[in-house]
Amino acid sequence: MLQNCLQRIAFVLVGVSGASASVQKIAPDLYAYISENDSSANATFLISDKGILVVDTGLNLPEGRKLLEEIRKISPLPVRWIVNTHYHPDHRGGNSVVGPDAVIISTHYTRSRVRRALEEQAVQNGQRPPPEYELNEVIDRMIVLHLGSHEVRIYHPGPAHTMGDLVVYFADQHAIATGDLFLTNSCPAMDEGDLENWVHALDQILHLPVEHIVPGHFALATKKELRHFRDYLAELRDQVDRMYSKGLKLPQVQQGLKLTGYEDLRQFPKYEATFADNAAAYYGQLQRKAP
Ligand SMILES: [Zn+2]
Repeated sequence: MLQNCLQRIAFVLVGVSGASASVQKIAPDLYAYISENDSSANATFLISDKGILVVDTGLNLPEGRKLLEEIRKISPLPVRWIVNTHYHPDHRGGNSVVGPDAVIISTHYTRSRVRRALEEQAVQNGQRPPPEYELNEVIDRMIVLHLGSHEVRIYHPGPAHTMGDLVVYFADQHAIATGDLFLTNSCPAMDEGDLENWVHALDQILHLPVEHIVPGHFALATKKELRHFRDYLAELRDQVDRMYSKGLKLPQVQQGLKLTGYEDLRQFPKYEATFADNAAAYYGQLQRKAP
């Protein structure tokens, strides 16, 4: 699944080499790092007098170094906290260079998936697992950090893109980092999450007074783009629900989809990121939930 997700995203690398990441100040002390490499996640960082908090660190060590370079153009303070929004490597591959001494905040699910991945990788390479997860701070529901004059609410919205996502809400700065709960103008890849609750989580975000939304990938956005993405997922859910309850098989469901209002969302047939692929993922979730 992890490999699939990476493959699904990796295609967008074509044609972007040579570009550089964009860093945008979206509120006092708060910056969005929009990766030019679309297979590596965006990041968000907050500078406080106590140190720096970073949300997601990119695909690997080189991507982490690029992110740290941009952070260092703004502040020499230590990176003290890293939030990993979920376990996919494109969101946490740069942890050890971005904040070698940082506390890494994630969910139990993310921690266990990452530990397993790192242990398997170490065995393959004949090495000991790196220690970056020994200082992990695990949260079940929410933690609120007060950094300088800013309040940071880090919460688990329940299963959505994966079974262990985190969202980071910068309350007084009217900004939010969604991880892969939201991708700007694109179909998402779906892991073993929960589409029903995913839509609910996006509805919760739409109720917050946010002006700047940092997506897991692609351009900085506002509620307008997030609402469109949410409406696509809700429409897909409703159509699959109706056909599933009539007993239609998956190929019939995929053929019966009518999503003409969402054709502006990018779809990538080769990488299982299409309307039909999303329908298949949700159909599987319904089958697993069936009594
Ligand atoms: Zn992901």
